[in-house]
Formats: sequence, C-alpha cells, structure tokens
Amino acid sequence: MKILFASSEATPLIKTGGLADVAGSLPVALNHLDHDCRLILPGYPDVLKKANDLQHLAHVEIEQEPTPVNLLQGSCGPHNVPLYVVDAPHWFDRPGNPYLSPEGLNWPDNAERFTLFCRVVAAFVMNRMGLDWQPDVIHANDWQTGLIAPLLSGEEKRPATLFTIHNLAYQGLFDQATFMRLGLPDHLWSYTALEFHNQLSFIKGGIALSDRVNTVSPTYAEEIKTAEFGYGLEGLLIHRENHFSGVLNGIDYHEWDPQHDKHIAAAFSAESFRKKQQNKLALQREYGLPEDAHIQLFGYIGRLVDQKGVDLILQVLPGIMDSGSQLVMLGSGDKDLEHSLEKISNRYHSRVGVFIGYDEGLSHRIEAGCDCFLMPSRFEPCGLNQMFSLRYGTVPIVRRTGGLADTVVDVDPTSLANGTATGFVFDNTDGSSLWGAVEHAINFYRRSSTDWEILARTGMQQDFSWEASAQHYLELYQTAIDEPGL
Ligand code: ADP
Repeated sequence: MKILFASSEATPLIKTGGLADVAGSLPVALNHLDHDCRLILPGYPDVLKKANDLQHLAHVEIEQEPTPVNLLQGSCGPHNVPLYVVDAPHWFDRPGNPYLSPEGLNWPDNAERFTLFCRVVAAFVMNRMGLDWQPDVIHANDWQTGLIAPLLSGEEKRPATLFTIHNLAYQGLFDQATFMRLGLPDHLWSYTALEFHNQLSFIKGGIALSDRVNTVSPTYAEEIKTAEFGYGLEGLLIHRENHFSGVLNGIDYHEWDPQHDKHIAAAFSAESFRKKQQNKLALQREYGLPEDAHIQLFGYIGRLVDQKGVDLILQVLPGIMDSGSQLVMLGSGDKDLEHSLEKISNRYHSRVGVFIGYDEGLSHRIEAGCDCFLMPSRFEPCGLNQMFSLRYGTVPIVRRTGGLADTVVDVDPTSLANGTATGFVFDNTDGSSLWGAVEHAINFYRRSSTDWEILARTGMQQDFSWEASAQHYLELYQTAIDEPGL
C-alpha cells in the first residue's frame, strides 16, 4: 500500500509533543511491514537543516498563493523514511516552534500557513505536480491538516482519506473573515463541513469529510463522544460513529530502550533491574539532590498546561515531602506554572529538582532514574510517557482517562494475585484522589522491595511496540479504500 502521512511535526526533525513521536515512528513500522509510507512536512528551518539529502523536486503552483513554493524530496531520521517538504519560506522560515513565536504567542497567520500546507498536499495527491509517485491513502493528523479532506471532497479519483485526532483540545478555530480571506470554496462554509458555530474549524473538516477518522486510544474515542470531552464536536463524532475508532499509539522501541539508551548512565533490563539504581543516583546528582538509592524518587515530564494536572501535583507535594521522598520535574509552557515550580524547587531545594525547558536527553534520564512517574492528566488522548515509564521500570501513577486507562493496570488484590498490576490508577481530578494513589505507591514501595521489583518488571514486560498498532492502521487504510466513508 502507498501511504502519504501528512503532519505538522515529526521526530527527529521537529517536535512539540506526542504527534511528532507518532509521525516519526508509525511510518517506520509501516515500511518494515513492506508498505510504502512517505512523510510530508512543512519546511521549518529545523526540517530543512536536519532532513537527509534534501533536493528540489518540483515547483508548486497554487492559485491563491502569490509567494514561491517548492516541493523538496529527501528522507527523515535514521530509518530514512522517504520525505517531502513544502518549502515556502514566507510561511515557514521562522524562529520559534511550528505554531508559536519565540514569545510563545500563536503566529497570527496560522490559518494561512496550514491552509497552504493542505493545498500543497491536495495538489500533490491529485497529481497536479506530475510526480511519479501517488498514494492510495492520505493519512492526515490533527487540525493543521484538517483541510486536506475538504479540499479533496468532490474530486473524482481522489485517494482514500484517514484523519487522526491526536488531541481534540486543539481545533484550529478562526473567524468567518479568515475563511473568506483564505479563498476556500464557498460550499465548505456549511455546518456539514467547516463551519462550527459561525467559526471556521479546521479539525471539523477532517472529522466530517474523511473516509475514516480515528483517535489515539479506545477510551479517548469513547470519551470524546460525550459533552465532557467533545468540545461541541461530540454530536458529529457520534454521527460518524461507524467510521470512527480508537487505535492505541505505540512507542519507538529503538529510541526508548533501557538496554541501549545513549542518554542514560547505566544500561539495564527486567533481568538486570538492580542496575536501574545507578541511573537514580546519577539523576539525583544531576538535579543536585542528596544521592541515596533508598529514597523514593518521583518524576514528571511534560508540557506545563492545564490538561496535564500539574496543579494536582502541587497539591500533593506537602505529602510527598513529609514522606521523605524526592521529586524531579522537566517541562515548559504556562508561565504561572513555570513560576510555581521554580518556587517549590527553591523552597524544597534538597527534595525537589525542577528544570524548565525542553531536553530530550534529560527526559530519558528521568524515565531511567525514577521509581515512580506522575501523570495526573485531566484528559489524555493516548499519552506516551506512561508507556516510556513502563518500559523503563518506572511505575506510573495515572488518572483513569484516555490512553492512561488503556495502558496501566491498577494495583489491587486481583491484579496483584494474577500478576497483571503495572501501576497506580486514580479516578477523580482532585488532589485527594491523586494523593490516595501516591500514598498507596509510597506504602507499597516501603513494604517490600521484592514486590516493588515484581511490579516494575511486569511493566517492563508489556508490549507497546508499534507493530500491533501499525497493523490496525493498515486495516483502517484498507477499509477506507474499499468502503469510502462519504
Ligand atoms: P502531549 O502530546 O500532550 O504533549 P504525550 O505524552 O503524547 O503528550 O507526548 C509528549 C512527548 O513530548 C513525550 O515524548 C515527552 O517525553 C515529550 N516531552 C514533553 N515535554 C518535554 C520536555 N520538556 N523535554 C523533553 N521531552 C518532553
């Protein structure tokens, strides 16, 4: 099968969150299964700099686009996934991240930027550039690619379309004047297409007009069909129920492998679990905390936004401190949260270490060195860090939501007896519910190091590799081709 995977970010070229991990690893897994999956990305400076062997492929004519656009061809990452890059310096040659200026504000022309990206992808797959490769399926991801399916709707001989929702909280909403300015076909301003309560919604376009739609875990697929998680799109998702499903993400087992991880102090596996301690001591040293293998060490990595429940961690911090444990954190985002974290690391400097920023290597060392990983998300479409944690024998403490509910088995008498327990799961988005799970973890850790090791090693033996998920995606592609959903 020939698949074109359209994304606004992909590791190892450019990453702000989990979408990049998926775009960096699902195509690799598909190609290992002997399919031909190629990536297409916007030409941000990092992409132009880090892609392998980029060369000019075609000059792109887009009617509404006055500035020059070129299509480049090369490959991405160590597995050399074939890559196309939309080189449009006017839109993409900027500092900051793909969506925000260096000051942390949305680029004011994000609608224009990603409309151009979608238009180029649509022109590509309708063979308007005379290329010698055409996909059977175009796999679009998140709102930045939400206009691809609408631009293809009504085209004869278009490829099949799959749209994946990685996070419904980010929708690409703009006013009607923006819709007019973009010069999109008038018929798309309709409640059955892009119009959402008198606004232009990119994500709605992907959901309403793709042959198949999925999200990144079975539980999140159920959750977003409710008013609590659906942001007003629950009705549309229910309407598309027969063409909508949840497929759990995998993780990159080469990149996240405690036996061969170039970022960590000591390699280890489930069989040599005790060597994990050396990573704990190294991490305590790196954060300037007292080095003591017996102290229970909690960790957090992630964007500092309301979704992730970092405020709940702040609520349980006094309890963690009273227990004599340590906490290390890595993240960036909301300035108030960054400030609060810096304050607590000053206040409890011998017990709490905080690094504000983005640091790939440190994220590996936290996964390798901690005993427990905190993930009290309000909602979590899939979540990757709990899967990295399981693979590194770091016991996750998670809220029962989205992909967290699908990947962590709570410690209770039944799961302990049948050997399936892998972490601590709590239900409510409040400090006392989180504290219940944290206290359980503290007591469990103290009671028996053997039982703790069994728990951690059970997590390490779970299989979250991409192979199974890639098979699910292949089935989705095939049904989208055989039975178009529109
Ligand atoms: P989301 O996509 O909502 O941010 P995910 O758990 O799906 O959450 O994916 C987040 C990814 O970004 C993970 O690979 C995580 O390790 C990484 N990450 C987040 N913040 C940081 C940071 N400050 N430094 C390094 N990696 C980070």
